[in-house]
Amino acid sequence: MHRTLITGGAGFLGSHLCDYLLNKDHEVICMDNLLTGSLLNIKHIKNDRFNFIEHNVTNFINIDGPLDYILHFASPASPIDYLEHPIPTLKVGSLGTHNVLGLAKKKKSVLLIASTSEVYGDPLIHPQREDYWGNVNPVGPRGVYDEAKRFAEAITMAYHRYHNIDTKIVRIFNTYGPRMRLNDGRAIPNFIKQALTGNEITAFGDGSQTRSFCYVSDLIEGIYRLLMSDINDPTNIGNPIEMTIKQMADKVLQATGSHSKITYLSLPEDDPKVRQPNIDKAVKYLDWKPRVQLDEGLKSTIDYFKTQLGIETQ
Ligand code: UDP
Repeated sequence: MHRTLITGGAGFLGSHLCDYLLNKDHEVICMDNLLTGSLLNIKHIKNDRFNFIEHNVTNFINIDGPLDYILHFASPASPIDYLEHPIPTLKVGSLGTHNVLGLAKKKKSVLLIASTSEVYGDPLIHPQREDYWGNVNPVGPRGVYDEAKRFAEAITMAYHRYHNIDTKIVRIFNTYGPRMRLNDGRAIPNFIKQALTGNEITAFGDGSQTRSFCYVSDLIEGIYRLLMSDINDPTNIGNPIEMTIKQMADKVLQATGSHSKITYLSLPEDDPKVRQPNIDKAVKYLDWKPRVQLDEGLKSTIDYFKTQLGIETQ
């Protein structure tokens, strides 16, 4: 049986990874300091092979016994979170990654770290391939997240090359699904909450900036395949279907049957104008591609938000 540590295991992606790996018969140690994660995301798990440890991975991590895999998913990930917690965001991406690398070295574990499409910044190459180095403002408001993740990639590759650790780096593009928080602040949860509560939909800028949204179950499957692969270089995982934020707002209005109006607010500083993953590498080497259609993914996400808001689902 495999023994696996998931940092950030009570977060949106971390909790889905806990479920997935428990289903694959792993023993799962879920670690989280609950800064942006929540015990509500893991309260359904009733399994002898599951343990929760409340700990901030910025501090030394002590785990008794063997560890086969480590998945490092601890970090604020929504722009409003990393603006509110800039120093913890920098520390978990740098010191936290250093700690999980040290642990992987000691335990001879395979380590996968969660990186991000934000390493490409406001990209000048479109769609983004893994060999694009990005266009990031290090001192802008998003720099705390972007540079922490870029550092995380650099130190991970250094441990891989210098200490021969088997490391994987997933560059995660925009993802959505159940267990995003009502107050997450990212586009899809904001739009769904606003649509369901009859409030105005807040599109930033003129809504012409683009993103490409992947449903969570597709993303988790891609991450698992990468974990089991022999790829050590960064790999994009995301859904390449690109749309404007205005189109997404319209989709949410249609899917919820809401009559909310769209209001246009100022665009946050350094907000990327376009984003779309090139997933040729994942398709070729992981035999992976996203399968869940937007309508289907939005429906489950809307149902989840309805439950959170105490609205009955049909
Ligand atoms: N956005 C928006 N309204 C919102 C939240 C986000 O128009 O209420 C925009 C945001 O400016 C960005 C896009 O939606 O252009 C995606 O933002 P999100 O926070 O989901 O993630 P990002 O891709 O910027 O990390």
